[in-house]
Amino acid sequence: MRIARFVNPQGQMTFGVIDGKGARSGWTVEAIDGHPFGQLARTGNRWALDDVRLLSPILPSKVVCVGRNYAAHAAELGNEVPKQPMLFLKPSTSVVGPGDPIRLPAASKQVEHEAELAIVIGATGARKVSREDADHTIFGITAANDVSARDLQKTDGQWGRAKTFDSFCPLGPWIDTDLGYDDLRVACTVNGQTRQDGTTKNMIFDVPTLISYISHVMTLLPGDVIITGTPEGVGPLVDGDSVTVTVGELELTNPVVTDE
Ligand code: ZN
Repeated sequence: MRIARFVNPQGQMTFGVIDGKGARSGWTVEAIDGHPFGQLARTGNRWALDDVRLLSPILPSKVVCVGRNYAAHAAELGNEVPKQPMLFLKPSTSVVGPGDPIRLPAASKQVEHEAELAIVIGATGARKVSREDADHTIFGITAANDVSARDLQKTDGQWGRAKTFDSFCPLGPWIDTDLGYDDLRVACTVNGQTRQDGTTKNMIFDVPTLISYISHVMTLLPGDVIITGTPEGVGPLVDGDSVTVTVGELELTNPVVTDE
């Protein structure tokens, strides 16, 4: 199932279920009552997908991020492969949806894209989950761009500024609850040119390991998002760019603008 959050032509925001095969022009989205976790309540109110505005598919209470989870990416930035998952956080205010602009802050001269698989948690209060039980906590997956001010990451030491500017966490375009996460293409193009083209097969710490590790630190709530690291090929974004992250069948595109 594909779950979106959207504004309908009447200006109302809801979650909905996307239906359709083949060309996207024939797809529709049906509103549901309330949130998508637990029993879905379809309302019968349906629009063409192209007639609604998609929002970030979820508003997470937190976005937990994993650094250096692909060896080739660690190497390209001159870093060692970590011995245990390297965690950091993005605030909810960094989250934007498909089509929303990534805003380049004046404080940075080097903002870069990072294409990543995002795991959306569905379980209520996932705490100290074993690796074996980790799959039960997953609601679905989506695509993420872990936008990063690389210069500030280096000069600050801590990543609390470099990763957290408003608009630095595009998510979407929707949540797929059926796609596996083991062997998904994770790619990035900028203005149509390929920059990153990896696979989740090459993660150092796999998804169950990450969920178990993180849930032994902090309780994961429904809608929380884990972004799982980026393959090699990160590079700069400049004003006027259009950046697309591909994760499996999911495509997330955002324009890049200078923050005013
Ligand atoms: Zn990242």
